[in-house]
Parts: sequence; structure tokens; C-alpha cells
Amino acid sequence: LGTAEGFLGLYRNYLSLLDYSERDTLTGMLNRKTFDDSLGKILAGLAPRNAFAPDGTPLPVRRQAPDGGTHWLAVIDVDHFKRVNDQFGHLYGDEVLILLARIMQESFRHQDRLFRFGGEEFVVILRSSGEEETETALERFRRKVEEHSFPQVGRVTVSIGYTPIHAQDSIPEIVGRADDGLYFAKDNGRNQTASYEKLVAAGSITPRQKPDGDIELF
Ligand code: GH3
Ligand code: MG
Ligand code: MG
Repeated sequence: LGTAEGFLGLYRNYLSLLDYSERDTLTGMLNRKTFDDSLGKILAGLAPRNAFAPDGTPLPVRRQAPDGGTHWLAVIDVDHFKRVNDQFGHLYGDEVLILLARIMQESFRHQDRLFRFGGEEFVVILRSSGEEETETALERFRRKVEEHSFPQVGRVTVSIGYTPIHAQDSIPEIVGRADDGLYFAKDNGRNQTASYEKLVAAGSITPRQKPDGDIELF
């Protein structure tokens, strides 16, 4: 029993170390390092397991998860965050980031994955049945932030860009599309949610070139 307890203690310490290296120390959210692993695993899970039928004919590439759900990625960036630091000081800036992380945890579902991507930039990977459900979830969060009164600082807003995750995507392609949506939101007044796919369809932004020269439409 003593030996078992010893191993259990070691294992517990090991797990807490793992957790520490996977999380951002300020907000407790998953960090950038974990993001690549997480998205890599999602992409591996989306890849078609049998690319060829028994007679050798290729099977169509699946664009959705096996159970029909789709994964989406959103990049969230705090608007004019530099001003918060300049006006109130870095400590108040940090407090805003901690509170934003809390609003994010309350706003999204337990199975959605939340990351602090960089300074004042966050990423959410969520599953939903479609674009409208995704946009509703992101807009709900954006409004919660807008309506929140941050101590001393007052009002803070965020801009959001998002895109679906497809089996044939690479991580930089997915993040790049969401970023294009985000930049559009920033350029068009901030405090808004922008879908890369909707912007391309509306002709508001030019589609990204795939590495092989194809135009990426979805
Ligand atoms: P925009 O609306 O275009 O995003 O403007 P912005 O001011 O948010 O963008 P910019 O990238 O110019 O500034 C981001 C600021 O975030 C600059 C940096 O000082 C601050 N920042 C980054 N990480 C932290 C942090 O951990 N704590 C605090 N307090 N500030 C941080
Ligand atoms: Mg910002
Ligand atoms: Mg930024």
C-alpha cells in the first residue's frame, strides 16, 4: 500500500506539472503550446481513415467530423488594449485579461476549448451544427464583454474572426482565415464578429491562395 501511495503521489505531481506547462499563468487558460497539439489532434480525427474503397476507387474526402458536427475556430482580440494599459496601468490591464478569461469560461460550453494565444489575443475551438449556431455563440460572448463593467477601466470590447475547420486544412491556413476575418472586423469599427467565409462570399475580402494555387472558398 505504501508503494502504491508513493507512486500515486509521484503521478499526482507529474500531472500537476503537465497542467502547469499547458496553461497560461495569468488567466489559467490553455496556452499557445497546447493549441498546436489540440488542433493537430482534431485535424487527425477529421482525416478520412479509408481514403480508398476495397476495389481501389478513392472515397470522397470527408469535410465533417464522423458524427456530423463541425469544428470552428475563432480568434478574439481585445480592442484598443494598449489604451487600457496606457490610461490605467499594466496591472489594470492584467485584471481585464483575467476577467475576460472568466467571461469566456462562463460564455462558452464546457467542451469548447479556450486558449490564450498571445498577449491580448484568445482562440476558441468550438463545435456546432453550423455557421449560424457558431455566430450566435460568439456574438453572445462579444455582447457579454460589451455589457460588462470592468473595475476602474469601464467598457472594453473585443473583435472576433472565425472560420470552419476542414480535414484538409493546415493549422496556419485555419488561423490565417480567422485572422483575415478579425482584421476586417478591426478595420470596420471593431466590437464585431466576422466570418471569413461570409466575407469572401460577399466579395468584401479576397480569398486566400492555397499553397497549390487553388483559391480557398470554404
Ligand atoms: P487593436 O484594437 O487594433 O487590437 O489595438 P490594441 O491596442 O489592442 O493592439 P496592439 O497590438 O497595438 O496592443 C496590444 C497591447 O496589449 C500592447 C501590450 O502592451 C498589451 N499586452 C500584451 N500582453 C499583455 C499582458 O499580459 N498584460 C497587459 N497588461 N498588457 C498586455
Ligand atoms: Mg488588440
Ligand atoms: Mg492583438
